[in-house]
Amino acid sequence: PILMLQSPSRIFHRNLNAHLPVAQASAGVYISDKQGNRYLDACGGAAVSCLGHGHPRVIESIKHQLDTMAYAHSGFFTSETSEQLAQFLAQRAPENIEHVYFLSGGSEAVEAALKMARQYFLELGQPSKQKFIARRQSYHGNTLGALSVSGNRWRRQQFEPMLMDVELISPCYAYRDQLEGETERDYGLRVANELESKIAEMGAENVIGFIAEPVVGATSGALVPVPGYFKRIREICDRHNILLILDEVMCGMGRTGSLFACEQEGVRPDIITIAKGLAAGYQPIGATLCSNQIYSQFRDGSGAFQHGHTYVGHATACAAALAVQQTIEDENLLENVSHMGEVLNMALHERFGEHPFVGDIRGRGLFRALELVADRNTKAPLLHQLSMAAEIKRQGMAQGLACYPNSGTIDGLHGDHILLAPPYIIEQSHVEEIVDKLGLAVDAALNAKGITV
Ligand code: PLP
Repeated sequence: PILMLQSPSRIFHRNLNAHLPVAQASAGVYISDKQGNRYLDACGGAAVSCLGHGHPRVIESIKHQLDTMAYAHSGFFTSETSEQLAQFLAQRAPENIEHVYFLSGGSEAVEAALKMARQYFLELGQPSKQKFIARRQSYHGNTLGALSVSGNRWRRQQFEPMLMDVELISPCYAYRDQLEGETERDYGLRVANELESKIAEMGAENVIGFIAEPVVGATSGALVPVPGYFKRIREICDRHNILLILDEVMCGMGRTGSLFACEQEGVRPDIITIAKGLAAGYQPIGATLCSNQIYSQFRDGSGAFQHGHTYVGHATACAAALAVQQTIEDENLLENVSHMGEVLNMALHERFGEHPFVGDIRGRGLFRALELVADRNTKAPLLHQLSMAAEIKRQGMAQGLACYPNSGTIDGLHGDHILLAPPYIIEQSHVEEIVDKLGLAVDAALNAKGITV
């Protein structure tokens, strides 16, 4: 058993009945708890710790920033560090994405993206544009605006009456939705065209934008779009004067092998949101990047974005992010992401390719997932009452492995997947340890629920 605190906790934890180990030390790909148990961090929390733990260069940069100028409010000052980070990102972002609005996390980045998109059309004199289109089985954050555009039923359901009215279309989920006899490309076009039908239904003059994760993370498990899907989405957005907002909070910042995930789709969005891997968990930070057209419209129009938070452009958070990003670049870590991503993919196929309860193995770079099923032929999910994802997480921790399982993969209730998002510094031996421990955890979880493998 892994518990740990002497007196009852005063923290309002996520799960009030969970017994959490106390994280005490972390280095490289491992986190240790107070009892001396060691966990391989195969998911970086929720795809956050992309550089691994305890990187000296990042820690040094944070200390230096604290020693010189920890924080100054962005309404009064800018800082050299935040300016440098914005330059760094703008220089590497997809063509024409030239400006960066800093925030403190993913949900804030999405909120800013939604409001920026709305105000952009006001600046243009198009006030009728008021609605967003998003996708089912997506997650964009837990604040009310970000939750409104999230198609994650489990996360939304209790707050539904408080959410904005957002229209949802299908995800690009070939494993389940591609029809027999339909090519990948035709499938991609068919689901992308749902956007055009939805715009026609709503009237393009009322639609602000479409938001999607290029590679879907927490809700669907490293769901990669089929080739051509996002190109078609871009065409539709252009044709109808709709902004394309790509949420790369989880899949961005190198996770899939390119700094921005959308580079591999060959599309240029109007707005991109990033967070998690940006400062790799060393500090909380997110950002909303926008095109030159959007920025110019604000500059030549009202001159101000009607938004802001206290910690926008926090100098210490920016120092951490800059050091993380420079380290990834200087150490050529994205090459390791692509290379070790393939190594991990092969190891997963070797271990789980014939597993009777693993239906799909998918992902890109160091963003990989297994989708669990009760029957590989029919793809029927395991009974949701089994809460298999929670059991696998528990069994993983008992094995010394932190992975990120989730339920509701198919429709918010049914289906389970396990997401892996290890640090970009992983080596062959870590891959072996991840796959060994994951295999044990999955089989132990199935056995614990009375299913014999
Ligand atoms: N967008 C995506 C794609 C995410 O995966 C998440 C978090 O998992 C968020 C937004 C919200 O980010 P945060 O938890 O930092 O608010």
